[in-house]
Amino acid sequence: MSDDWKKTNRTRQILAAAEEGKYGVIAAIAYNLEQILGLVRAAEQARSPLILQFFPWAITFSDGLLVRTGADAAHRASVPVAIHLDHAQDESLIRHAADTLPFDSIMVDMSHYEREENLRKTKELVAYCHARQISTEAEPGRIEGGEDGVQDTEGLLASMTTPEEVDAFIATGVDALAPAFGNIHGEYGPAGPTQLDYERLDAIREQVGGRVRLVLHGTNGFPPDVMRRCIAAGLSKINVNKLSLDDYYAHLKERVGTAPHTTIIEEGIAKVTAQTVEWMEICGSAGKA
Ligand SMILES: [Zn+2]
Repeated sequence: MSDDWKKTNRTRQILAAAEEGKYGVIAAIAYNLEQILGLVRAAEQARSPLILQFFPWAITFSDGLLVRTGADAAHRASVPVAIHLDHAQDESLIRHAADTLPFDSIMVDMSHYEREENLRKTKELVAYCHARQISTEAEPGRIEGGEDGVQDTEGLLASMTTPEEVDAFIATGVDALAPAFGNIHGEYGPAGPTQLDYERLDAIREQVGGRVRLVLHGTNGFPPDVMRRCIAAGLSKINVNKLSLDDYYAHLKERVGTAPHTTIIEEGIAKVTAQTVEWMEICGSAGKA
């Protein structure tokens, strides 16, 4: 099989440029149309690349409609926007998504399996996605916690990524790795993400040696300096959820019942755009598209 598609795959192109330019690209979750529009408008306003992400929930609740809508918005955008499936944990859903939906990349998340099984399944699914010109991401180790829209993995022990695991995962052919270095899904608590293990992150990056891109998960409540530190450590795909959606939810809370629905929608889109532009500036991707 020819690997030529890898040169034009949108996610790969966006992340290769980010790693080269030493900036981070926001990979933001969208749960609805307002958020899709708000995120794409942020990318256009900031002249930044963007990765628009969906959880498997976005496929199942609407039979893929939200994903196809996101792809339509991405393809019409005046800056590079890739469509990514985050935390796909179900093998049949991954095959269905790769076969029928316009994803540029898929996170093949088999981290709920024990290591050998995780590696075997990852390798098989990476090949399946690559055969359909879709690039991939995997999670060596296990990031703690859960997010709205991801299958519950409660009860599974989190485990930090080791540099030894990195080689085993790269051998699966995967395009990007999401290391567990103290980052968690969900909330860090009042002190913020103080438990991040930067030494481990440095060791992982050294072991990776530029062979695959590195992805940051679990950024809820990150202050800008922590974000910049993570990007300086070589993480180029920056998954965000609440960092781009907090203001939107606060807006709904305040305005529902007091303003016309169309106004609430338009103002909500503007909230997502404004908050996301700020993070694009912090991550250094603004002006790079
Ligand atoms: Zn995640």
